[in-house]
Amino acid sequence: MRIVMIGSGYVGLVSGACFADFGHEVICVDKDESKIAKLKAGGIPIYEPGLDDLVARNVASGNLSFTTELSQAVGDADVVFIAVGTPSRRGDGHADLCYVYAAAREIAGALKGFTVIVTKSTVPVGTGDEVERIIRECNPVAEFAVASNPEFLREGAAIDDFKRPDRVVIGIEDERARAPMEEVYRPLSLNKAPILFTSRRTSELIKYAANAFLAMKITYINEVANLCEAVGANVQEVARGIGLDNRIGSKFLHAGPGYGGSCFPKDTLALMKTAQDHDAPLRLIEATIAVNDQRKRAMARKVLAAMGGNVRGQTVAVLGLTFKPNTDDMRDAPSLAIIQTLQDAGAKVRAYDPEGMDAARGLLNDIDYATSPYDAAQGAAATVIVTEWDAFRGLDLARLKSAMVEPVLVDLRNIYPPHKAREAGLRYVSIGRPQEDEFEKDAAASGEREAA
Ligand code: NAD
Repeated sequence: MRIVMIGSGYVGLVSGACFADFGHEVICVDKDESKIAKLKAGGIPIYEPGLDDLVARNVASGNLSFTTELSQAVGDADVVFIAVGTPSRRGDGHADLCYVYAAAREIAGALKGFTVIVTKSTVPVGTGDEVERIIRECNPVAEFAVASNPEFLREGAAIDDFKRPDRVVIGIEDERARAPMEEVYRPLSLNKAPILFTSRRTSELIKYAANAFLAMKITYINEVANLCEAVGANVQEVARGIGLDNRIGSKFLHAGPGYGGSCFPKDTLALMKTAQDHDAPLRLIEATIAVNDQRKRAMARKVLAAMGGNVRGQTVAVLGLTFKPNTDDMRDAPSLAIIQTLQDAGAKVRAYDPEGMDAARGLLNDIDYATSPYDAAQGAAATVIVTEWDAFRGLDLARLKSAMVEPVLVDLRNIYPPHKAREAGLRYVSIGRPQEDEFEKDAAASGEREAA
């Protein structure tokens, strides 16, 4: 199949490279000339594990190429994917569809022969109808069908997610789109990936309903963590205790500083707006958004409290800036709100992130960037783990402590057992777990039970 991917960002580039790896002939288009120039020169504009090798292999085989010239590429295509951004619209939280509609207009003028146009971007219910209307209006004689195929990959594990998805969702209104879409995804049938054909509107809604559900699950365990702190219970054990129930499942039950990233914040907001517009409000999602917003500032207050309240002029080491490990994506990362609140309270911030510091430079002011976790901790009155990069999981805590002027470690991802931090001489604060003494008591009690 000849596939064109409009938008070569986190989703377009990964999807395009994976389709090329399946044997399709793929052209990735982007209007960002510097991005395309970098790709043509053998570089990768984003950090995604394994993507450099995948792209290089498929460029070498001739299956994958890059261009800024949309119309030439689209003219020869069987299937054209739209994978452009759909950020929150400034002011009201609806998804901003201007990039999708601009792409649709450009595609319309370039169509030759029957073509399936597919929205892979996350788009609100009814967007496919509007894309169809725009293309028909711009090019009344064009032969085309518009399908919806939302993407569920996770940054940091994107290639594996794309190649071994839990499911592929395809929404069609025109039966002529079915065979080309089956052909595009046929290589996945070897992995027995379920392909779910639905109506276009249902497909569009599935994506939002899935993301909002996951955001709600994270927010739920975060609130349970608050309760654990209040009553002296351990949220990690609660999460395990409920997650082992197959009806609940263990994923997305890690208490932390609140969800962020390029999808959950904007998608929950857009779904809430759609629901309100249709007089079918989603109260659970409204509450999820409000609770999550408060949580990020609450995390900064937790740091301030651990430092004794007054942080003016003191240095806080922040480990991890990206919204999750294994990406350089800083969009809506919890670190942004946490750092801002710490700075507002008068703290100086020294930060280290394995991949996110370049992107962070454009979003944060007055940060001192460090070269390693220990360098960040140098002279700090507290170290805060915000993102659970592997590089932070096995730190030499005694060395970390000796770099700091006060031995305070705030672990917003619960990656250390409290007794380990205490053995290193640190005052350790984490999320939803009993304070050190109670933890020791709990551990001893459960040890006794196991021994009995
Ligand atoms: P991104 O910002 O990384 O990439 C979008 C790209 O589209 C940019 O490079 C931009 O220059 C390009 N673009 C915009 N208009 C264009 C046009 N008319 N012609 C050519 N190129 C154009 O965005 P992303 O993270 O890849 O997200 C894309 C979509 O996929 C969004 O709707 C998002 O919600 C959805 N999604 C993202 C993820 C994720 O993890 N990032 C996962 C699933 C779904």
